[in-house]
Amino acid sequence: MKTIIEPFRIKTVDPIRMTTREHRETALQRAGMNLFLIDAEDVLIDLLTDSGTGAMSSEQWAGIMRGDESYAGATSYHRFHEQVRTITGFDHILPTHQGRASERILFEVMGGPGKVIPNNNHFDTTRANIEHSGAEAVDLVIDEGRIPTSRHPFKGNMDIAKLEKLFSDVGGENIPLVMVTITNNSGGGQPVSLENLRAIRAVCDKHKKPFFLDACRFAENAYFIKMREEGQSQRDVADIARELFELADGATISAKKDGLVNIGGVLLFRDMEMAAQARNLLILTEGFPTYGGLAGRDLEAMAQGFKEVLHEDYLQYRITSVAYLGEKLLSGGVQIVEPPGGHAIYIDANAFCPHIPPKNLPGQAIICALYRHAGIRAVEIGSLMFGGEGQAPDMELVRLAIPRRVYTQSHIDYVVEAILEIYAERDKLRPLEIVEEPPQLRHFTARMKELDA
Ligand SMILES: *Cc1c(COP(=O)(O)O)cnc(C)c1O
Repeated sequence: MKTIIEPFRIKTVDPIRMTTREHRETALQRAGMNLFLIDAEDVLIDLLTDSGTGAMSSEQWAGIMRGDESYAGATSYHRFHEQVRTITGFDHILPTHQGRASERILFEVMGGPGKVIPNNNHFDTTRANIEHSGAEAVDLVIDEGRIPTSRHPFKGNMDIAKLEKLFSDVGGENIPLVMVTITNNSGGGQPVSLENLRAIRAVCDKHKKPFFLDACRFAENAYFIKMREEGQSQRDVADIARELFELADGATISAKKDGLVNIGGVLLFRDMEMAAQARNLLILTEGFPTYGGLAGRDLEAMAQGFKEVLHEDYLQYRITSVAYLGEKLLSGGVQIVEPPGGHAIYIDANAFCPHIPPKNLPGQAIICALYRHAGIRAVEIGSLMFGGEGQAPDMELVRLAIPRRVYTQSHIDYVVEAILEIYAERDKLRPLEIVEEPPQLRHFTARMKELDA
């Protein structure tokens, strides 16, 4: 059967507003062609990010009412702790307000000047927190992970030879831990195989180094393993997820992804000493260890979210609906990063509008056209985000991130139609020029203008 059934009924609805082309044109001009500066109420379908934008279930909302707001030892904390322990097997479980808070604490404990920390691809907040500690962040994804058309089933894998080479080049004493991001967000939401994780574990054992997961999308990664890895198809996703965590010595998690909540994070350790240091830092900036910067109700919602995310009906719907968008675009002639990732589709903007050179922001030209034409908000991941000062990124991409349990198949069909209509008239897309930019993270606030095609 071809139709994807959303495995839920809709109980509460959140109206989205149709706008006219004139209204959107005005909004776009006012925002200086920067979609971060457009109000959410002027957006029809918002694919800016999948982080914290998901819909909660009726059980999660029930948990919100049940939330125990005691300062210490709240019932909600125990429920959260029990659920995370069941899924991961870790004993030392610290709640944090979101993923980057876990990262900040981890790298204050493990980072520092002169240290080098490898990952398949560091997510931008992970890299920023490592660099903030004075350490260096190194990306060691396999070569296929950088080629948009490669259909490697596990493009998020780390290159084991490169990891060994890093150990011999910089010396084990300078590598405090090895980290791997599942799924590899910066590399297109591509999964990492169990075989690769076991091989990384073996390298860590050989050099006596801890192995940490950036496990924001652990459930999506576990589902890809079930679907794609030899010998894994008969296992429960929860069982695979448990093995992923058992291979590691710790993990950072943003619960805004596979925690199915709008705010929350987790920091996990096997080692008691490390956990004790982290707990002290947690108290300093996040809060007492039984709430970690969250309300009791948030812990309830997280506990339930982590349980629901491992339901196989949910994961099947999630992964196939993202793939559906990707395959429809491909069959319409639009080059995307293949194969479709777990949480987002990435359009190759250079292939889409080859008449616009990277310095004139082809990805931004596409997302402005998409907003103007259909009220859809996507994000540029290319020269606007990573360029400037003589730097040029490897790829010019447009990311369509899919919030969890929010949009239906007809919303996605509308997105496909809109993109294919723009693609049909792609030679009319206009180059952009930056007219105003801040010194750092310019994509959030830069203003641009359209030049004649
Ligand atoms: C979102 C994300 C983070 C950071 O989490 P926040 O909750 O946004 O602070 C870290 N790593 C990866 C892979 C992510 O996707």
